[in-house]
Amino acid sequence: MSGLRDDEPPTDDGFVTYVRKRLPHPLLRRWPDEAEPLSSAFGYRRTANIRRRYDLPGRRRAGFLAAGDALCTFNPIHGQGMAVAAMSAVVLRETLSGPRRIPTTRCVQKALPAASRQAWGISAGSDRSMPGAVGSALASGPADRVAGWYLRRVLERYPGDPVVGTAFRSVLGLCAPVTSLFAPSVARAVLLRPPMPTPAEPPTSPEEPGA
Ligand SMILES: Cc1cc2nc3c(=O)[nH]c(=O)nc-3n(C[C@H](O)[C@H](O)[C@H](O)COP(=O)(O)OP(=O)(O)OC[C@H]3O[C@@H](n4cnc5c(N)ncnc54)[C@H](O)[C@@H]3O)c2cc1C
Repeated sequence: MSGLRDDEPPTDDGFVTYVRKRLPHPLLRRWPDEAEPLSSAFGYRRTANIRRRYDLPGRRRAGFLAAGDALCTFNPIHGQGMAVAAMSAVVLRETLSGPRRIPTTRCVQKALPAASRQAWGISAGSDRSMPGAVGSALASGPADRVAGWYLRRVLERYPGDPVVGTAFRSVLGLCAPVTSLFAPSVARAVLLRPPMPTPAEPPTSPEEPGA
């Protein structure tokens, strides 16, 4: 469960009430009644996105390698960190098994940021509009404004439009590149179709939109 400032989930007895209030459908609201708690609720309040640029000149020490959260930490609300840690491990494996017999720290540290680039764009990009947000990710140019306009149309359509919804969820889950949001079928729906109403009921089979 997550909530913005002044609406954070409580970690005391109020937690279950909060869960019931926030879950949008009776099917989901049943869950806290039937679930058995394994522990008390824990809170986590550090939501900064932090990227350390060890790939830049003068910022790396030979023999020292940073990956996963040590290189790039995300606001956990976006659920990106484990996927990025796994993708970093794949980049590390590929770099270490490259044709050079002993890859330098520089070569490995320069390859690693690719694993977190998309997740960083999603996390830092979404959090830019949070009230009181500060940091280098706030800087934006004309291209960001056009992308922001397009993304707002995606967000209006993804809950009800199966084409936009499938593409958007694949990008959020880091299973597809951001460019797939501009594929012709998705762009047509985003630019030409009005938003479809969000289904009132959750999908009950994999074939239904949103499943
Ligand atoms: C509340 C919360 C919710 C999250 N939800 C999601 C989610 O839904 N999906 C998702 O993908 N990611 C999520 N994440 C992010 C994810 O947990 C991290 O991105 C991921 O665990 C990073 O892996 P890591 O191996 O880089 O670091 P870690 O998992 O932090 O591992 C580092 C390890 O190093 C150990 N260590 C530290 N210092 C030393 C030392 N000096 N000597 C020896 N050992 C040391 C630590 O004890 C730890 O075990 C969430 C994070 C938080 C905080």
